[in-house]
Amino acid sequence: MTREPDAIAKIAQLLDGSRCAIAFTGAGISTESGIADFRSPGGVWSRYQPVLFQDFLQSEDARRRYWIMKKEGYHELKTAKPNKGHYALARLEAAGKMMAVITQNIDGLHQDAGSRRVLELHGTSRYCLCLNCAARFSPDEIQESLEAGVDIPRCKHCGGLIKSATVSFGQSLPPDVLAEAYDLSAQTDLVLALGSSLVVEPAASIPLRAKNNGAHLIIINQTETPLDRIADVVVPQPIGATLSGVMQRLGYDL
Ligand code: ZN
Repeated sequence: MTREPDAIAKIAQLLDGSRCAIAFTGAGISTESGIADFRSPGGVWSRYQPVLFQDFLQSEDARRRYWIMKKEGYHELKTAKPNKGHYALARLEAAGKMMAVITQNIDGLHQDAGSRRVLELHGTSRYCLCLNCAARFSPDEIQESLEAGVDIPRCKHCGGLIKSATVSFGQSLPPDVLAEAYDLSAQTDLVLALGSSLVVEPAASIPLRAKNNGAHLIIINQTETPLDRIADVVVPQPIGATLSGVMQRLGYDL
């Protein structure tokens, strides 16, 4: 294992030599902003079963459970702020070093940090959608109705089912976003895989494709991943602190 100062130097060196890096981010970058990873102990899923999309469509009870979870998670998402990891990626994009951020997260923190090209593989929690007429609703408005006692919000235009614009289990990833992500993985010369366990498919194959295509691969994640073996640098440390060190070394302010 590369020691930490050496790892920071090596990442800085790889970024310095890169012309078209991409970042691939998972829950780990957002836990540093206080958003609990729903898969971890204490996360939403340790208390509730995730609601499958088919069940959401078919069962009143599943919809009720879905909105209980959303109601409970609302304030955490609403008050979360980007951290140094998010800001570092936005800064690299602004400096012309990074092409895009591909994320498994739905919290919108990359955009809040100033990243412009963000590919959200699992959709976004920043709006809700009528599944019938595609009208959009603000999560604030929906939360207000939940807190006022509505258990299953309905579209005020057509009465259709409303759901967060996130991708649920049993729902396919947006094909256009996925295609763009695969294109980027073919073009890039350096992937920073940050805070993802790199096991959920097909998303996890994006860094693998890039690596097989000759790109360098940097993994910053607290736990081991299946791609550690083939990565150029593996850092089992916090993302914000690591990227701060890298940015400092490259001479960028954060
Ligand atoms: Zn509608």
